Amino acid sequence: MHCPFCNTPETKVVDSRLAGEGNQIRRRRECLNCGERFTTYESAELSLPRVIKSNGNREKFDELKLRQGLLKALEKRPVASDRIDDVVQQIIKRLMAEGSREVPASRVGEWVMSALRDLDPVAYVRFASVYRSFQDVEAFREEVEKLMALTAAKT
Ligand SMILES: [Zn+2]
Repeated sequence: MHCPFCNTPETKVVDSRLAGEGNQIRRRRECLNCGERFTTYESAELSLPRVIKSNGNREKFDELKLRQGLLKALEKRPVASDRIDDVVQQIIKRLMAEGSREVPASRVGEWVMSALRDLDPVAYVRFASVYRSFQDVEAFREEVEKLMALTAAKT
């Protein structure tokens, strides 16, 4: 890091702390040549894979869209907003863990459904019915029956 005042490459870090929401590091540096101090910010650059839609189109992963889908599924359900954030973070982590540049939208949908299944059964069925559009009534019934069995087993 060159000093912005005299352009010398010799600077030292005098202080480091977390900034932003903890995803940035703010550093105070001091120039060893002119003694001026300045601040730099450092953050990790994360590039998420693109999502392959069922029609073959590639799209940037849209966190907002995911959150809206979740909010819609969880409308009037007794689930705290924090839990929704957790699901969003969980999906993003899985996307990053994929390690590939493109991920099928269907896989992301499966992740969301499995997260919702644990979170709230009603939201799960809502999301699944929109997501899979359940043209097949039989598939929808099976899904609900599986869920009932699961819920019954838990109680
Ligand atoms: Zn300097």
